[in-house]
Amino acid sequence: LLDAKQVLMQFGGLKALNQVDLNVKRGTIHGLIGPNGSGKSTMMNVLTGIYMPTAGTVAFKGREVNGRSSSQIALSGIARTFQNVQLFGEMTALQNVQVGLHHAYKSNLLQVALSLPGFKRERRANAARALALLEFVGLADVAGEEARNLPYGRQRLLEIARALALDPELLLLDEPAAGLTAPDIAELLAIIKKIRETGVTVILIEHHMDVVMSLCDTVSVLDFGQKIAEGEPAAVQANEKVIEAYLGGQAA
Ligand code: ATP
Ligand code: MG
Repeated sequence: LLDAKQVLMQFGGLKALNQVDLNVKRGTIHGLIGPNGSGKSTMMNVLTGIYMPTAGTVAFKGREVNGRSSSQIALSGIARTFQNVQLFGEMTALQNVQVGLHHAYKSNLLQVALSLPGFKRERRANAARALALLEFVGLADVAGEEARNLPYGRQRLLEIARALALDPELLLLDEPAAGLTAPDIAELLAIIKKIRETGVTVILIEHHMDVVMSLCDTVSVLDFGQKIAEGEPAAVQANEKVIEAYLGGQAA
């Protein structure tokens, strides 16, 4: 589904990503792990068109997407959440999801042209769909609450619901379990599994190794912008280079 080759992302003299390949098969969950500052979020920013890579290519569904705008990439089927929650705080949970839906809808000009007389119908359909998405992540009961008043764990789930509003084929999650309590993490795990069951492919950046172990089919490990290992989670966790990279990070 996704095939990134030899991605180089340079910020001045720093190679935040150094010749990184990333191949993710449809229907799988791929973990992207590595110590702080290893380039994980940068990779996500390259895949979603926020950064234009210095060199290398990104192909999604067999087509090159580097050079396209982030909004074009989103509409082609890649949605994401952010490492720091980015919601519209003063809007309700439902409205936040509707923004995602509206973005997908409005950008499809043909769809808009065909349904101008049906605009109200679209709005009603949107509200129903937004509620269904909130239900999917277990937030239907707080649909009318302002996003900023929700507990942090709920905010993270809301971000996932909004990303799903784009009806993505590939969902990128940047540390969804960060800052969550153990029961929140258990709930998140169940939701990510449900997402995969609906056929959505997932790339998961995560520091919680237990989450990576229980969810991921394959894992890539970055260290100082380079991919140092990849494969099945258990093999990767036992890989000496990986152990060393993490120990080095702790000592620093
Ligand atoms: P963390 O686990 O802490 O989130 P990460 O693996 O996501 O780390 P990145 O955020 O991708 O790491 O950062 C990789 C490197 O690139 C870091 O050294 C960071 O300072 C640098 N970097 C990231 N974005 C930029 C930018 N816009 N300009 C300059 N340097 C950047
Ligand atoms: Mg990061």
